[in-house]
Order: sequence, then C-alpha cells, then structure tokens
Amino acid sequence: MKILITGGAGFVGSHLADKLIGEGHEITVIDNLSTGRYQNVEHLEGKKNFRLIIDTVLNEKLMEELIRDTDRVFHMASAVGVKLIMEHPVKTIETIFRGTDVVLGFCSRYRKRVLIPSTSEVYGKGASIPFREEDDLLTGSTDKHRWAYACAKTLDEFLALAHWKETCLSVVVVRLFNTVGPRQTGQYGMVVPNFVKSALNNEPLNVHGDGTQSRCFGHVLDIVEGLTKVIETPECFGQVINLGNSEEVTIKGLAEKAIEMTESTSEIRYIPYAEAYGKGFEDMQRRVPSLEKAKRLIGYQPTRTLEQIINDVAEQFREELKTETANA
Ligand code: UDP
Repeated sequence: MKILITGGAGFVGSHLADKLIGEGHEITVIDNLSTGRYQNVEHLEGKKNFRLIIDTVLNEKLMEELIRDTDRVFHMASAVGVKLIMEHPVKTIETIFRGTDVVLGFCSRYRKRVLIPSTSEVYGKGASIPFREEDDLLTGSTDKHRWAYACAKTLDEFLALAHWKETCLSVVVVRLFNTVGPRQTGQYGMVVPNFVKSALNNEPLNVHGDGTQSRCFGHVLDIVEGLTKVIETPECFGQVINLGNSEEVTIKGLAEKAIEMTESTSEIRYIPYAEAYGKGFEDMQRRVPSLEKAKRLIGYQPTRTLEQIINDVAEQFREELKTETANA
C-alpha cells in the first residue's frame, strides 16, 4: 500500500514509518524538519520504498498531489511540547489547525483513509479519572496559552468528525497520552528524555511543582501498533479513541526511578512552575486514560512498562553520546 506520513521525521511519525516500511509498504514522508529531525529517518533513505520530502503541509499544491496518489494518510505533523507551545503560541495554533484543514480537505476530495492524532491535553483539567472519550473537556481561560494547544486539537477533532458526518470520510481521531521512547528530544520540555538525560549526566533532575502530579507514559512502539490498527478497522471511523498506557506514576516517582535505573548520583531539585514556564502556567494534577474503547475496537493492550521505557531512552542517549565522542 502507498502511505503518506506527514511529520514522518518526528518522534512518533518516524517510528510509524519504520513499522510500515518493515511491513513492505511504500512510504512517503513529508516533514519541514521544524521539530522533526533528519536523523530520525536517515536510516530509511536509499530504501526503494521510502521517499522523504522536506516541505510543509501548508503547501497545498504539493499536498494535493501527495494525497491524490496515496492509499492512507497519517497526519502526524503538529506543533508539540508544552514548552514550544508556551513560547510560540501563534505558530502553534496556525500549524495545527491549518495543517489539519488542508489534509482533511484533500482526503475528503480524493476519498482517502486518514488518521488525525489528537492529544490527552484536550481533557484539560477534567477530574473524572480515568479519562473517557465521551467525557466533557475542561480547559482554562484563553490568557493561559498552554490551553491553546488543547483547543486547537479540539477544533481538529471537530473538523475530522464533521467530515465523517457530512461526507462519510474514513477518518479516525486518536488521543495520544504522554507518548515517550527513543528519538524524543527533551528540547521541547518533555519530562522523560529530560530526566533520563540529566540522570545519565549525574546532573540535577528538575521536578516542577511538588512532584505529586502524575502521568501515564506509553511506549511509542505500543502506540504505533495502535495507530496502524485503527486505520485498518472500519469500526473506528468517525470515532475518537484514547491510546496510551494506564500505568500511573507521579513525576517525583519518575525522577526517583530514572535515577535508580541509571545508577545516577543526581539529586532531585524542585522548581516552581512559574520558573519553568513563565507566569500564569497551569498544570493538570492527574492524567490517566481509559483504554476500554481501544481494547474493544482493536484489542489494544500495551505491553511495554515504564522500566522498559526508561531503559530504551537511556540506551538511545548512551548511543548518541558514543557517536558524539567518536566524532569529536
Ligand atoms: N516536568 C518536570 N520536569 C521537566 C519537564 C516536565 O517536572 O523537566 C513535569 C511537567 O510540569 C508535567 C509533567 O512533568 O507536570 C509532564 O510534562 P510533559 O511536558 O512531559 O508532558 P505534559 O503531560 O505536561 O504534556
């Protein structure tokens, strides 16, 4: 099959490309390398069923050609990371919504199956744990820019479901919960790569707030398995589906585990949110997915633990360090 992955040089997109190439599909990646990295797909270049196009999904002429000529679209291109969103709020909203509008418009015109990833951020400050797909969404006021990401993604969801309703477009929306693993950089503030890297360097781990806030981290390889299944399951079209892992850990607990597993001498430092993200930042205390719907529709069952995540991320950083030292 011909498969188009927007944002395919990004963290999740590149793992998806690996899996689909391995299954023998013909993959086209379009990525403007804004948050994606060439190194994530470098190993695929030269393969006969792989093509990388460095361009933006806002290039409508190109997107029309690419979508007309494909069988499936995974629209993984997006602004990512709370830090990036806080620093570039205009770009965040524009990239997310305009990009999705272009993709959905052409998928609708040419009748192509498409997956639109959304995020657990859309649940916002919702307090009924675990988060179920039909729950109300509760974000903060518009002067708190963190919520721009959730709202832009919510609008993406509405648009996707509107295409399904009006023209029966085969579209599925997936809400990704804290997806982590090798290739994710700490550059945009994500906690797991930041903690593991600091621990390996025996530097302090910066826990925001008091560290009692919790998250559930899903291994990217479990997530891409889910992504490839939902797009092949017609019952998923017109649906919003959570994907992630339900193993919950506090951020303090995560820091302790990262230190222990890497045999680090790092200490934990507690820093106020305002220092990390600037004034007026709001965090959510708990975020746990209900995975019942994913289990019912595609038999989804993540198998990789938090230990495996930390090990895999640590392994990647050790490898990178080795390469850097060899090249120095
Ligand atoms: N966090 C932290 N130290 C860091 C990065 C993040 O304590 O270096 C906290 C962050 O404030 C949040 C949690 O870890 O409470 C998860 O942050 P991340 O940005 O990875 O994902 P989020 O769930 O906020 O989208």
